[in-house]
Amino acid sequence: MLGKLKKNMAKALHEKDILVALEKIVPTDKLSGVYISDKGEVSFSVLVDPSAGADMEEMRQKAEKEVLALEGVSKVTAILTAEREAQDNTPDPHGMNKNPRLKLPIKKIIAVASGKGGVGKSTVSVNIAAAMAKQGLKVGLLDADIYGPSIPRLTGLPYKKPDMDENKQLIPFDAHGLKVMSIGFMVDPDEPMIWRGPMVQSAIYQMLRDVAWGTQDEPLDVLVIDMPPGTGDAQLTLAQKVDVDGAVIVSTPQDLAMIDAVKAIEMFKKTNVPILGLVENMSTHICSACGHEEHIFGHDLKKETKKRNVSYLGSIPLHISVREDSDAGKISDLENYQDITKTVLAAL
Ligand code: ADP
Repeated sequence: MLGKLKKNMAKALHEKDILVALEKIVPTDKLSGVYISDKGEVSFSVLVDPSAGADMEEMRQKAEKEVLALEGVSKVTAILTAEREAQDNTPDPHGMNKNPRLKLPIKKIIAVASGKGGVGKSTVSVNIAAAMAKQGLKVGLLDADIYGPSIPRLTGLPYKKPDMDENKQLIPFDAHGLKVMSIGFMVDPDEPMIWRGPMVQSAIYQMLRDVAWGTQDEPLDVLVIDMPPGTGDAQLTLAQKVDVDGAVIVSTPQDLAMIDAVKAIEMFKKTNVPILGLVENMSTHICSACGHEEHIFGHDLKKETKKRNVSYLGSIPLHISVREDSDAGKISDLENYQDITKTVLAAL
């Protein structure tokens, strides 16, 4: 036992080991986002001058090789990135520093968030966005859930790369009357991606800025953003880079989900994003054979929201039709989504 422990400890990798291995290849101040997984998978970004990007490929490969030679490393992913901190004469291709807040051709931005994954946040995002479009609004749906982009599947769109327009902006796909963009269109759905802070920030920023959501003359009425679960970099980037008009929090009535939902609520409050309210998903189980209703989780979220001074937007039952529709890329015909959407729009 002790022997095994010692062996594991000997293999434990630290960021410092990676920095030392790369010392002669990459200047330390050009290295960012070093990440080491439990399985010894290492990823990092190398900041480069965008004009020299192509010439840096050799250096990138050398850096990968050097790190792969370290004991305990199973896989290495090095990424060249043009993003960097503001300095005099520093290239700033995406305007991250000079224009920190984006002015987008979008009238209202709504973030749909949850503390935990798997609570139905994406399903709620798609269905409320579609309900808004049904009311005649021009609606965009941005899948910012970079850790598990599911909007392509939920909207029935194929995983394929979007085209660019003449302004070099990505053209969103069209589904159910919505303009849809997802990080899932850009990456291989079978290849898990490892994201670190700076990568998350620039991915979210670019999906807001570099997508043809609308024009000054024809802006979107609403952009619904399906956020990654939790309270990390994506939430912060969003709050810092655009004016978010409100957040919709999705939770199931389980203690654990609610505890995490409260964390998400508090984070939005801290970043001055108004909380539009909470959607209780999978509230009751309705038997598809006999229509019998039962409260599986038995927790009263109405009480919880009252206690925390947050509006209760409504509930969606746990029903097989919701799962079947979402798997088939269809919009659910449950009236609950329409009712919740009306309440959300009224709260904006
Ligand atoms: P999240 O975005 O929070 O990770 P998803 O929206 O992807 O969650 O939902 C996770 C799974 O649960 C999906 O398979 C979806 O079809 C299913 N689901 C979501 N809401 C319901 C519901 N009310 N009834 C039945 N299945 C649901």
